[in-house]
Amino acid sequence: MTGYPMSENWSVVPDVAAMKALVRGWHAGGLKVALVPTMGALHEGHLDLVRMARTLADRVIVSVFVNPTQFGPTEDFNRYPRDLDGDLRLLGEVGADAVFTPTTAVMYPEGFQTGVELSRLPRHLCGLTRTGHFAGVAQVVLKLFNICMPDFAVFGQKDFQQVRIIEQMVVDLNVDVRIVRHPIVREPDGLAMSSRNVYLTPQHRADAAIINRTLLAIAADIDGGARDAGRLVENAVAAIVAHGGDVEYFNICDPVTLEDVADIGNCGHEVLLVTAVRFGYTRLIDNRLVAVG
Ligand code: AMP
Repeated sequence: MTGYPMSENWSVVPDVAAMKALVRGWHAGGLKVALVPTMGALHEGHLDLVRMARTLADRVIVSVFVNPTQFGPTEDFNRYPRDLDGDLRLLGEVGADAVFTPTTAVMYPEGFQTGVELSRLPRHLCGLTRTGHFAGVAQVVLKLFNICMPDFAVFGQKDFQQVRIIEQMVVDLNVDVRIVRHPIVREPDGLAMSSRNVYLTPQHRADAAIINRTLLAIAADIDGGARDAGRLVENAVAAIVAHGGDVEYFNICDPVTLEDVADIGNCGHEVLLVTAVRFGYTRLIDNRLVAVG
C-alpha cells in the first residue's frame, strides 16, 4: 500500500485484489461505476473526463499507469512525465472515489504473455508509425476493465483512433462496459491539452496553435462546399508546415473505419479531419469531426 490516505471516500489502490474487492462492494450495494483510464501527468482535460464520469455513475475510478506495452523502443516511455503526488492532489479536488495506481510488476508479472490482436483499425493514422501501440493500449485497457469492472469508461476524443479501437474491442469481445467519448479539451489558443505539451519550447508552443486553426479552416471549407479531400489535405499540410510543424499525416477519413475519403460529397454524413504533427521532438495529435451537409 502507498502512504496515501485511505478512507471510505478516497482510496489509492495499488493492487488488483483490493481494487476488485472495492468494486465488488460498490456493485453489491447497487452502485454504478465509471472508469477513467489515464497515464497520469494530469491536466484540466483529464479532470473534465473525471467530471463527466461523475455524471454517469455513483463511483469513479481513475487509473494512473504509464503502460510500457504501448510505447515503441524509440518512444518516450522513460521520459514520459510522471507526477503521482500532483495527480492525487488534483483527483482529490475533482472527487475521484478511487485511484488505481498499479506498478508494472502488478500489471505484467513474471510469466505474463497474453495480448489482444487487432486487425483493421490500427492500419491507419498513428498505427502506421506506432507499430504495436494500439495492441498495447487494447491489452492494458482490457486488463483495466477486468480489474475495475466499470459500467462506463470515459475516453477522450483527442485520441480518436484509440477510442474507436476500444469501442470496437468491447463490441467484438462482448465486454460489458459502455464507452463514452469526451470532447477534446483545449487551451485558450485552441491547442489540444496534452501531457506532452510540457515538452514544447515556448516558440513551438506558440506555433502549435496552427494545428487547431487549420482543422477549423478545413472544416469551414467543407461547410462551404469544398469536396476534394486531396486538395484540402494539401492546403492543411502547407499551412502547418508554414508554421514550423513537421506533418506526419493529415487525413480526411471515415470516422468509423478510419479509411481515407477521396470525395467528401460521396461519403457518410460525417468526416474526420485528423493529424499528427511534430514540433521539435514533440509529437502532437488532434482531430475534428465535420458534418457533411
Ligand atoms: P493520457 O493519459 O494522456 O493517455 O489520456 C488519458 C485519457 O484522457 C484518454 O482517454 C485521452 O484521450 C484523454 N485526454 C487527454 N487529453 C485530452 C484532451 N485534451 N481532451 C480530451 N481528452 C483528453
